[in-house]
Amino acid sequence: MADQLIRGTAADNGIRVVGVISTNLTEEARQRHKLSYVATAALGRTMASALLISSSMKKHEARLNLRIKGDGPLGGLLVDAGPDGTVRGYVQNPGVELPPNAKGKLDVGGAVGKGFLYAVKDFGRGYPYSSTVELVSGEIGDDVTHYLATSEQTPSALLVGVFVGAEGVTAAGGILLQILPKAARDESLVAKLESRLGQLSGFTPLLQQGKSLHDIFQDLLGDEDLNIFPETQMVRFDCGCTFERMMGALKMLGQDELLDMIEKDGGAEATCNFCNEVYHADVDHLSRLVEELKADAH
Ligand code: ZN
Repeated sequence: MADQLIRGTAADNGIRVVGVISTNLTEEARQRHKLSYVATAALGRTMASALLISSSMKKHEARLNLRIKGDGPLGGLLVDAGPDGTVRGYVQNPGVELPPNAKGKLDVGGAVGKGFLYAVKDFGRGYPYSSTVELVSGEIGDDVTHYLATSEQTPSALLVGVFVGAEGVTAAGGILLQILPKAARDESLVAKLESRLGQLSGFTPLLQQGKSLHDIFQDLLGDEDLNIFPETQMVRFDCGCTFERMMGALKMLGQDELLDMIEKDGGAEATCNFCNEVYHADVDHLSRLVEELKADAH
């Protein structure tokens, strides 16, 4: 199924629901960064979370950054997503692999370790809003839910998952339920939703059973006055880096460094952290930057 995101409401607009299928974009991230199994799961869960949360940001150019910094062997990861449906991200130590945890699942919590989740919301105008919460388990889903409950003060239930095997990523995505203030007082509703989500053994088994996002919404909220919005948004891994931007980054190294590269290396290679794209600058490119720096100095 194509990567996509759909949204809806339920319980007389008291519940916001968003679902995303991110199988292909997670596989693209795995291939680009040569991610291990556990790194694929960690980054994939974070990318699904960021797409779900940022989908409710109003301005098209708004961005959400989720940075997870733990003391585990993965070292940390960064994801950037927006309501335009684009997402990108990377893991500090992409090759780290760990034995499965006690439940026989990929040990994302062990790979991430203890630490913090930093979220920055750039609304496209005004100051970005940033907040930090302590990691609950390092399993990503719990940590993002904790962020939503404490920093955004929205009771939320989040289920994100990635299934990665020898053939790569075959299922990934998630669902986010948020109880809006008018419904938050209805404790029985909150308890009912938590129990329904709790009965699911994960998000990826639903996809593997052939369920669509519509089916999943219907199963969870079909009896709660569900209204699924008609638009299906396509989501994709998209970095937006260009040769010109990479040249801009090289220029910041300064004249001496650039001249050194021309003389000793006969060019330069720059890799984009976010998508692992490699850009090559030859002597002519570097000489042009030196000329620009000379001109800037006058
Ligand atoms: Zn890039």
